[in-house]
Amino acid sequence: MSWLTNYVRPKIRALVQRDDVPDNLWQQCPACEQMIFHRELEAALNVCTHCGHHMRLPALKRLEVLFDDGNYDRIELPKVTADPLRFRDRKRYGDRLKESRAATGNDDALIVAFGKMGGRGTVVAAFDFRFMGGSMGMAVGRGLIAAARHAVLKNAPLIAIPASGGARMQEGILSLMQMPRTVLAVDEVREAGLPFIVVLTDPTTGGVTASFAMLGDIALAEPGAVIGFAGARVIQETIREKLPQGFQRAEYLRDHGMVDRVVHRHQIRDELIRLNDLLMNPRAGKNVVPLGESGKRRKSGKPAVAEADEQDRNEERPAAE
Ligand SMILES: [Zn+2]
Repeated sequence: MSWLTNYVRPKIRALVQRDDVPDNLWQQCPACEQMIFHRELEAALNVCTHCGHHMRLPALKRLEVLFDDGNYDRIELPKVTADPLRFRDRKRYGDRLKESRAATGNDDALIVAFGKMGGRGTVVAAFDFRFMGGSMGMAVGRGLIAAARHAVLKNAPLIAIPASGGARMQEGILSLMQMPRTVLAVDEVREAGLPFIVVLTDPTTGGVTASFAMLGDIALAEPGAVIGFAGARVIQETIREKLPQGFQRAEYLRDHGMVDRVVHRHQIRDELIRLNDLLMNPRAGKNVVPLGESGKRRKSGKPAVAEADEQDRNEERPAAE
């Protein structure tokens, strides 16, 4: 009809309607309720660009960010008996496993990786919360043991990043048995004189908190992460008392001595590299500056330290009498 309808309108349509537009371009922050553009959110590693709220981050993304240039090898984890109790609630456990495997592309809730961090070989065991709430069953327990043994084999630090609702109830007692097993895995790393660092992320609860997650030589946590054993509502109903503000949050645990430091997600890689350097370098802190001229001989022919000691003794004597 006119230049406007024939030429301009199709051009604008072509600009606005692209085929590859995903459905959810914007995501709402659960804390400040602001809308964030999905690319912006991804670039910020799921940290709200308005209020700094830390949303959950998938395990693979986390590994990509932690290792140098995003390069790492995944460690093959031992296979375990699937659904040993033939458990069924609303769904079969076997079906739940299949669904989670299809949704995440992982065999179970734990991914173990080895790669360089700041040039140093490091083993990282990261939980994927999307896989049945990151729950710890036999596969996760065995995975952590494999991670610990790999760290010992490579003489590398072990970093665990839990994001878990606790033990996997569909495996009953077998999932509870993973608690002592993971504690023993941590012991193997400790006996080899290697660091074990934990980065507590939202949420770290139940049997995971009650085992390896609280045994880090150093415990870091992400801001606002829920860290606890039983849920706050259960505790409140049991003790019939109002819980303090910020209860079971990373900052509360830091203030009460359960967590060493709360670190922003964007700084965690640098912090881990620094800690590994300090803990792995036996010379760190041994570069002691000599006291005065202790090495040189004085006129008396004695080293300065010996002379100083003698002086101390002489000064002490009258006071002792
Ligand atoms: Zn926000």
